Amino acid sequence: MALAWIAAALAATVAATAEPRCPTDPVASAVTQPYPVATEGGARWGRISYPYSLPLADHELALTFDDGPSLENTPTVLAILRKHCIKAAFFLVGVEVKQAPALAREIAAEGHILGVHSQTHPEDIAGLPPAQGLAEIDDSIDTLAAAMASAPPQDRARQARFFRFPKLIESPLLLDHLKAINYASMSVDLTADDWTEITGPEIRTRALDRIEERKRGVLLLHDWSTPMVSILDDLIATLEARGYHFVQLVEAPRNGATSAQP
Ligand SMILES: [Zn+2]
Repeated sequence: MALAWIAAALAATVAATAEPRCPTDPVASAVTQPYPVATEGGARWGRISYPYSLPLADHELALTFDDGPSLENTPTVLAILRKHCIKAAFFLVGVEVKQAPALAREIAAEGHILGVHSQTHPEDIAGLPPAQGLAEIDDSIDTLAAAMASAPPQDRARQARFFRFPKLIESPLLLDHLKAINYASMSVDLTADDWTEITGPEIRTRALDRIEERKRGVLLLHDWSTPMVSILDDLIATLEARGYHFVQLVEAPRNGATSAQP
């Protein structure tokens, strides 16, 4: 109850201060720039899963939120990002999209990028029978497309060919499928362990420690995590004060300039 109240109070505060801040923000340079990511040929990104990642600049971060949309928490996450003029990427789960299609559309309407993160978030997608594993990918894409069918074209365009494996568990079969459909496997560089049973302050500490160690990267967060949501505003403000700025992962145009995969 206490956390829910804090989240509600935070959302109200953020909503009240959101509008004046963006254009006149002294750190307006922090307004998120798009960062094109190649998807063709099943590109793979993220140091947690691969020996390389996107060549982000020093003090450059990209925020990503997994497992939503969350009716309880995603609106607060959106309000916090709006307050800071930050655009992020959300990796949505098909069954959650079915529960809250309007919220999926709202995420895109706020300017965020939508990727997918499987249909049911299985414990071990690589261990499923092959057809079932492939369906986890395809069904999540179809479910999101169905939810976005009624959205304006500019919002539909924010569906990127980005797939993030649940628990970052992958297999050659599934990677081959992503390659065939030109979806990128979007792993991460930095985590804050917000899926474990740790407190908000501990999530904040781990995020800051790991970011300061690498000075750049794609950060994984989960919008269902109420402890994470309780510290997100402060985490972003702290990072901004330390000179970090945010970029948004967007799908590179086909055959366009991209961050070439090594
Ligand atoms: Zn997940």
